[in-house]
Amino acid sequence: MTTAPHTAEDLRVLAEQAGRDLEEASALDVLRWAADTFGPRFCVTSSMEDAVVAHLASRALPGVDVVFLDTGYHFPETIGTRDAVAAVMDVNVITIGPRQSVAEQDAQYGPKLHDRDPDLCCALRKVAPLEEGLRGYDAWATGLRRDESPTRANTPVVAWDAKRQKVKIAPIARWTQDDVEAYVAEHGVLTNPLLMDGYASVGCAPCTRRVLEGEDARAGRWAGLGKTECGIHL
Ligand code: SF4
Repeated sequence: MTTAPHTAEDLRVLAEQAGRDLEEASALDVLRWAADTFGPRFCVTSSMEDAVVAHLASRALPGVDVVFLDTGYHFPETIGTRDAVAAVMDVNVITIGPRQSVAEQDAQYGPKLHDRDPDLCCALRKVAPLEEGLRGYDAWATGLRRDESPTRANTPVVAWDAKRQKVKIAPIARWTQDDVEAYVAEHGVLTNPLLMDGYASVGCAPCTRRVLEGEDARAGRWAGLGKTECGIHL
């Protein structure tokens, strides 16, 4: 297992080669490659919508770091899912957060920044903390899937994340919602209870609503605000 830090150029070459080699690989094989290549310098990020990628990664790398971004605006069900994942799975859940509490942000920018400038709110509470949280890693995995929305239709399985100078891995990029549900059922994977209550994608409470019949999975995120992504995956 390789654990020494790679140079950025090494990582870029690795990412581009793996992007070609692993496009058709199973999710577990992609994660085994990540575990073998990066060891503890690899982590999974999870929104705690479900624990599918964390579960897969724990099979490839027991005790794998699972980074959870606590924006201060999560549903209680999401925090509960995080705590359950930490309690029952062979992973190391690491919670990271913004520099300011919600109260501090309200004092500086005014209340409900998420309604007035969601891009700034996400930049402060999601994008910036994640940059810091990923600092010790060479590679990170996400649960992005191509079928979630048009903006995610071209998600690569492995790619060079030039913005962060890291390898970005989407091991279930090619999965469908049916694949996710089959994996959850087969392995008894923890999922956020809100998925059973009309939510198809779970983010911060003020910016998430239930989806309507025929809407794509992410239609309930920032509904009516003309925003589809928080900025982490742009
Ligand atoms: S999803 Fe909403 S509440 Fe959460 S950080 Fe973004 S704008 Fe703020």
